[in-house]
Amino acid sequence: MVHENGNISVHSENIFPIIKKWLYSDKDIFVRELVSNGCDAISKLKRLCSIGEADIPEDTKYYVKVVFNKQNKTLKFIDNGIGMTAQEVKKYINQVAFSGAEEFLAKYKDKTDEGSQIIGHFGLGFYSAFMVADRVEIDTLSYQKEAEAVKWVCSGGTEYEMDTSERTERGTTITLYIAKDSEEFLDEFKLREILVKYCAFLPVEIYLENANPDRKDKQDEEKAAEEPKPINDTNPLWLKKPTDCEDKEYKEFYRKVFHDFNDPLFWIHLNVDYPFNLKGILYFPKLKHEFEGTEGKIKLYNNQVFVADNIKEVIPEFLMLLKGVLDCPDLPLNVSRSFLQNDGYVRKVSNHITKKVADKLRELYNTERENYNRYWDDIHPFIKYGCMRDDKFYEKVKDFIIYKTTNNEYITLKEYLERNESKHKNKVFYVSNEKQQAQYISLFKEQGLEAIILPSPIDSHFIQFLEMQEKDIKFNRIDSDLSESLKNTENKENEAADKETKESLEKIFKEALNNEKLKIQVENLKAAGISAMILLSEQSRRLQEMSMMMGHLDMKNMFPDEQTLVLNKNNHLIKMILKLKDKQDKKEDLKLICEQVYDLAMMSHKQLESEAMTKFIERSNLILTRLVETEDL
Ligand code: ADP
Ligand code: MG
Repeated sequence: MVHENGNISVHSENIFPIIKKWLYSDKDIFVRELVSNGCDAISKLKRLCSIGEADIPEDTKYYVKVVFNKQNKTLKFIDNGIGMTAQEVKKYINQVAFSGAEEFLAKYKDKTDEGSQIIGHFGLGFYSAFMVADRVEIDTLSYQKEAEAVKWVCSGGTEYEMDTSERTERGTTITLYIAKDSEEFLDEFKLREILVKYCAFLPVEIYLENANPDRKDKQDEEKAAEEPKPINDTNPLWLKKPTDCEDKEYKEFYRKVFHDFNDPLFWIHLNVDYPFNLKGILYFPKLKHEFEGTEGKIKLYNNQVFVADNIKEVIPEFLMLLKGVLDCPDLPLNVSRSFLQNDGYVRKVSNHITKKVADKLRELYNTERENYNRYWDDIHPFIKYGCMRDDKFYEKVKDFIIYKTTNNEYITLKEYLERNESKHKNKVFYVSNEKQQAQYISLFKEQGLEAIILPSPIDSHFIQFLEMQEKDIKFNRIDSDLSESLKNTENKENEAADKETKESLEKIFKEALNNEKLKIQVENLKAAGISAMILLSEQSRRLQEMSMMMGHLDMKNMFPDEQTLVLNKNNHLIKMILKLKDKQDKKEDLKLICEQVYDLAMMSHKQLESEAMTKFIERSNLILTRLVETEDL
């Protein structure tokens, strides 16, 4: 075999259709590409003026116009930018994948740093025109003195035609002869929608015009008389210095971009130049209900050109609940997701955002605690989610995670533990449903105890996460265990008497309820008004919940109800029950009372099953009837 070095050759007739049709997945993109070329042409000209290489009157109004003509089926992109000479057309247009933008940047890099406004990158954007057009014309006149205007025509193959043109105005007009299958792009609504989507923040004013408005239409006439308005905002808020922006502006921008008429809670203005370039605003929206938050929207821009929504490779996933705009000039425009996943730059951006969010939370916590508390109910889901997803984030924010208590305060876990240390050590009592657990809450409150309220679906996962992170903390639902402080430690009976009471009560209740297996615990509770209550250990309840969540309804039998009936021997009724036990003629009453006590305890623990409920109502009526019968009527 002979050794050989060579160049791989590409047959342009074969590769050309691929570039034209499949380079971009979305046809709309051609609008973005052609408008951004017009903007680049203007940015370049401005740049040359600023360094004295071009001489254009100061008061020149620069523009890009998109003009549709339904009759001729043409779409024109007109700019009054730098224009091209015949040489430049040959170089930049006839050479596919040669980026004039890159070349310009390389050439003028050091002279000034405004270069970041140039959008182009790969030298492929122009050819996206062929996704919708079967003939494209360029008519252009360079800014250079004595330049000749040029006309370039291509009907989709690899052949083009070049000629001199009659054109006298500086700038470029790209005319697309729209193909039969793409006539939707002559529709004003469609065009406006695309322009608003991609070009709403481009740095040059962009106008959409109808080449031949139907003059008989009054509306059009009125429209024509009005001063035309650009479709874009050439100076988006995120590019301003944070110190120059007012709250009002942030809110207005939010309303405009996200069409959310609830003000955001707060926001973070990102403004990094070094070591990478990143600008943007992240908003913390007000949640209307928990799940709505999952539809957050982060719009990604590249030099003010819209690229995509919700790119999860750039935004840490948990921050997808936020809304905002991010402008990353260093990201390629045609981002492919698999590329982003492996990109070091993207990881840096993502880490930076995470850090900024943590910083903002710290700042609010330290300087605006009142507001922070107020925001908490809206922001806690993604903070908790973020902690579970990202250890580093947890480390950064763990001291600012707060909990609402049964006394309506917002405190940290540390504060809770300190306040309650003497009462129940490292146990954290929590409430998952304030209504259902009201009885337990009032018991707690009576004794000056507090629990934290964790009502959201995410909380059950979050406490398990916390238990893993902070080894000695244990979370107990308020109905799972008794705080030592609820118990009476004074006037203790002697042990023997204690034991006897316990055994008697156990026997009475097991018999009355006809349940040998029932777990009974006898306590001397300070709250004398409570006869009995149900406790279900944290662990059993979690097991039950887990198996339910996994859809194993049948597993209920594998984890039988492990609940314990706690009887309060400090309660008058329970004392009476003990006295009744030896009275033969009261056997029936005793059963009735025990059943009722059990049901009442059950009811304040959870909803009764329908059968139990029916019995409870019947029994209640019976007891009331007995009460009346004892009166001599
Ligand atoms: P890129 O923008 O990545 O350089 P394009 O294919 O979009 O690639 O454009 C190729 C080149 O053609 C541009 O860099 C520019 O030099 C030239 N060009 C395209 N459109 C215009 C225009 N409207 N005015 C002046 N030059 C243009
Ligand atoms: Mg381009």
